[in-house]
Amino acid sequence: MKAKHLIFLGPPGTGKGTQAQLLNDKFGWAAMSSGDILRAEVKAESKIGLAAHEYMRSGALVPDDIITGVILAGLERVAAGRGWILDGFPRTVPQAEALAAGLAKWKLPIDGVIYFNLPDATIIERIVTRRVCKECATTYNVRFSPPKAGDRCDRCGGAVIQREDDREEVIVKRLSTYRTQTAPLIEYYERQGLLRSVDASLAPATVHAAALELLARLDASA
Ligand code: AMP
Repeated sequence: MKAKHLIFLGPPGTGKGTQAQLLNDKFGWAAMSSGDILRAEVKAESKIGLAAHEYMRSGALVPDDIITGVILAGLERVAAGRGWILDGFPRTVPQAEALAAGLAKWKLPIDGVIYFNLPDATIIERIVTRRVCKECATTYNVRFSPPKAGDRCDRCGGAVIQREDDREEVIVKRLSTYRTQTAPLIEYYERQGLLRSVDASLAPATVHAAALELLARLDASA
């Protein structure tokens, strides 16, 4: 498979991070989750983390200039020729425009935008049962894929916890933020002929297989 530059688009809790990790495991493409990057900044109590924390806690978006700077700087560090997946960025049209400008400067294309489609009721159910490793950000689900050792991460042994914004009252706000600010990107990328959809209600292995098929088709049409 040719290295790809991909955007994963969709509401929270639709499995974007899991799928990015599976592609990272298989092809070594860099999986960049804007949420994980911001949570690491919050943990480190950096200037960015301190500026971002209140927005994140309440389910609002962090201001465009903060996150755009962080992501573009991260992309600049990825080795030339290596694939990457942006999970959770861009989330607004101005972010998408800033990304396009950055990539144009580096003469890098976006190969595809994968849209993770899932009804709201399923999203809420998945997020309230989601748990995450505090150290390495591996995701679990207490019902479908719990850590083998109770509350310790299978990968690194770190503590597995519930994110502070995965409580039901914050999820409702995050979903409404998604509808008003992020959903317009579906049409934005559709108009550019980049959008492809996956049915995110299926099991992770099935979604992974569908994503691989879709990526192979991108190669065939290139
Ligand atoms: P996530 O882990 O992707 O659900 O992101 C967690 C939180 O981080 C979001 O609810 C936002 O507050 C913030 N965040 C992550 N990515 C972005 C982004 N691209 N733009 C603005 N805020 C973001």
